[in-house]
Amino acid sequence: MPEICLHSILALLHNNKLFYLVLINMTPEQQDFWFLPLGGTGEIGMNMNLYGHDGQWLMVDCGVIFAKNNEISGEAILSEQPHIQMADPKFIADRRKRLAGLVITHAHEDHIGAVPYLWRKLKCPIYTTAFTAEILRRKLVEVGLDSKVPITIVEPNEATNIGVFRVQWVALTHSIPEPYGMVISTPVGKVFHTADWKLDKAPVIGLAYDKQHYQCLATQNIDAMVCDSTNANVPGWSASEASLYKGLKQHVEQAKGRVVVTCFGSNLARLHTLAKIAKETNRHLGLLGRSMVNMMSAAKVTGLWTSVETHIDPAHLGYLPASTVLLVATGSQGESRTALNRLSMNSFRDMVLEPGDTVIFSSKVIPGNELPIEQMIERLKALKVDVITEHNSQLAIHASGHPAKEELQAMYQWVKPRCAIPVHGEVHHLNANASVAATAGVPQQLLGGNGDLYYISPALGIRRRAVKTGRLGIKNGALIALE
Ligand SMILES: [Zn+2]
Ligand SMILES: [Zn+2]
Repeated sequence: MPEICLHSILALLHNNKLFYLVLINMTPEQQDFWFLPLGGTGEIGMNMNLYGHDGQWLMVDCGVIFAKNNEISGEAILSEQPHIQMADPKFIADRRKRLAGLVITHAHEDHIGAVPYLWRKLKCPIYTTAFTAEILRRKLVEVGLDSKVPITIVEPNEATNIGVFRVQWVALTHSIPEPYGMVISTPVGKVFHTADWKLDKAPVIGLAYDKQHYQCLATQNIDAMVCDSTNANVPGWSASEASLYKGLKQHVEQAKGRVVVTCFGSNLARLHTLAKIAKETNRHLGLLGRSMVNMMSAAKVTGLWTSVETHIDPAHLGYLPASTVLLVATGSQGESRTALNRLSMNSFRDMVLEPGDTVIFSSKVIPGNELPIEQMIERLKALKVDVITEHNSQLAIHASGHPAKEELQAMYQWVKPRCAIPVHGEVHHLNANASVAATAGVPQQLLGGNGDLYYISPALGIRRRAVKTGRLGIKNGALIALE
């Protein structure tokens, strides 16, 4: 254990016994550079990371996690646990005067979703790029915070000073527009915080990855790479987003009736591909899902969605010949309130599925959701609808947004950090990431979890359970503490 953390030892006499109480000063000093995850390390979701240096903290991401889908037969069972949960920010809320700012890497819910609920406890400036800021503003409007939260839109690839930290946004590829990692620099150390990424040579929206950016980082002597572990157990290289066009088009071309494609609402690149396919196959495009419509509108406002394809009002769907319709719907995880689930139960207001229609799952099963998805598929099959999933499609129809082993290996070899800190994963993902880092020649790996204090400077090390962590949930619109 580095001596820096032993700031004072208090001797107490109690019942004639001498106790020593070690007081850890949780304020980083000038020679310190610390990493402290409050959420997202040891689990996938609710990312909340802190960096500490010279009396200040910087938060990276502030996301939510959704309680496992407890729905059976499409009917929601009231769960004891709130559906929306997030890391308890108590540690930093108690010292919010030392919080220089919050930077947000991208607009996925597990990175941005808790801001509307927690900002009143933090009251700090927020820094992010234009599209993510647009998504954030829309969330803040819903809780009456839009005019109160100072948001600075940063230009990617420009460095920004936030308190004592210098933050350089680093372009990456992922499954949502504008995904960024960042190099966080202090006079005593540098971290490359990757957030979520993959190496996609054709991401459909945004530029392909450029390995020179990452090779350049090696010349900056990165002390630690804090890295996405989601797919560290998956061999090989993730499929490119553009490669899905072929498989999706083939299925749409072969379909006789309506086609419904379900995917994650935030995957605008997938939506772009499907819009192109709709046009090429002379089908009207319809969007079913509030999150998807919202994402598309934010992409239009920020200039990321430039194609002219329009989508039709769902109210008109029932009047169109089945073979002229291509719908993109959220609800790939079997969530009860989504259009796809309602279609499977024949209770969707605007249309019904008929024998010969096709539903394509351009998605993966999130662990925990197997049962509701399976039951939804059974209901679709009972309606004599053709169901196409990753498993019965010859060609790829879904691509992950996270790096598989070979991508991790390449990134470690390009960046050449002194140390790897796996985050964004369950323990087995973190372990797998650490072993890829070791294979790639990264000399040291630090494995820990939420509440552990990682020392980056003056010496690499870790103090277990330095900070008490917990979860908050939303119940009847209010924040409550969870066990
Ligand atoms: Zn994530
Ligand atoms: Zn993400």
